[in-house]
Amino acid sequence: MLDNIEKYPQLGSVFQDLEQIIGKDTYDMWLRPAKIDFNGTTLFISLPNQFWGNTIRERYEHIIKDAFLKHLGAAIEIAYQIEPETEQTPTVTSAQDVISTYTAQQQPASVKVNPFVSRLNSSYTFENFIESPSNRFAYKAAEAVAHKLGARENNPLVIYSSPGLGKTHLLHAIGNQILKDNPSAKVLYMSGEEFVSEYIESLQNKVHDSFRKKCRTLDCFLMDDIQFVSGKEACIEEFFNTFNALFDSGKQIVLSSDRTPQQLEWNERLSSRLLSGITTEIKRPNLETRIAILRQKRDSINFDIGDDVLAFIAEGIQTNVRELEGSLFRLVAYCSMHSVTPSIAIAKELLSDILVAGKDTSVNVNTIKKMVGKHFNIRMEDFNSKRKTQSVAWPRQIAMFLTNDLTDLSLPEIGREFNRDHSTVVHARDTVKERINKDPFFAAEINQIILDIKAVDNK
Ligand code: ADP
Ligand code: MG
Repeated sequence: MLDNIEKYPQLGSVFQDLEQIIGKDTYDMWLRPAKIDFNGTTLFISLPNQFWGNTIRERYEHIIKDAFLKHLGAAIEIAYQIEPETEQTPTVTSAQDVISTYTAQQQPASVKVNPFVSRLNSSYTFENFIESPSNRFAYKAAEAVAHKLGARENNPLVIYSSPGLGKTHLLHAIGNQILKDNPSAKVLYMSGEEFVSEYIESLQNKVHDSFRKKCRTLDCFLMDDIQFVSGKEACIEEFFNTFNALFDSGKQIVLSSDRTPQQLEWNERLSSRLLSGITTEIKRPNLETRIAILRQKRDSINFDIGDDVLAFIAEGIQTNVRELEGSLFRLVAYCSMHSVTPSIAIAKELLSDILVAGKDTSVNVNTIKKMVGKHFNIRMEDFNSKRKTQSVAWPRQIAMFLTNDLTDLSLPEIGREFNRDHSTVVHARDTVKERINKDPFFAAEINQIILDIKAVDNK
């Protein structure tokens, strides 16, 4: 294969361009593990599953074709081949090999390559994850897992949070650390979505046994976004069996989810096993952490951008680190394209949509009243009325508690929203909090209301 590729030295530039255009992370995730060949008119891409093929076809095919057109001066065709149990060997040409061949960055021949495909993104590490009070416990637990695989007290590790707060980053960091310490360890990163589609595909292609073997003979299984498996009975069963096989042989399992484990619609057996190790939540980062994250990203791309501008972005985007990073990169792209120095004024102009959107995603009191009202079957006006019957007073207290939890309003401001003074809000907050701590069913109910509120306000 390499012979063939050497006939077309422009391929090095094509793939380098692609890495730049779609971004290193995306390239690492989707294209780097692909096996490729080229015959002058057709690019052959071999991938381990259909899901992968569809993703490249839908999202990146036109970009790949444009890059070929630019460097080879001719339009090409792309042919996909699905090889279910592809295990990459050093003799195979991957998208990465093409770049290495032509940039003289090849690994020395003596470096051993682990033939097992881990699907890890090497750019997510512990070193470049900013530790903060909002993620400290998750971070420490992840480090502990990476250094002591399969220890009973840390198995499974379940990390949950709302989107964009670092779950995927930590899962990859664990995998990368394990391979750093032991290059021959069998580590597999897989999203819940991939698990579902690969499992179904393996049934269709009658390669279920090898799928099973692949998942059940690991040292560490990193499964991201397990909520995708939720509600799909056959897949839950397969997951449960995989989980048990690994767990019973002392192998490490790390899971992430955008819901609390209690909210996953799983049977009791699985839920109780999931909760038998460590379960930890990543919360939203505070301003200081958001600034630290932006500083680190700035330094990693080595672009001159002042702390005042970083602080401005960090103040405007509060809920999602992915958006925070995205905004920084957008600003950098704009400034380098127009050869201007980043300033608050430019950031304000350029990011106005997302900064406003950032405010929009902070929850609205009316939505809280509406969703709590719907849940308890009371009317909007009851929240501000003087009625004291329990059927109205209790939902009102819950709504005050949620307003305190989900918005930036001060206690007196919340009081005004409910036609009460701030001491009533304090009492409501403490009463509801106490009940949450005592009653897990009530806690789950409140979590569900929070999700419903966010679903409305994040639209
Ligand atoms: P999730 O999986 O929870 O949706 P990700 O792990 O994909 O979130 O994180 C989104 C982006 O934010 C990633 O690029 C990640 O590197 C970055 N990120 C999140 N938290 C941190 C952190 N504490 N330090 C550095 N980068 C972070
Ligand atoms: Mg993720």
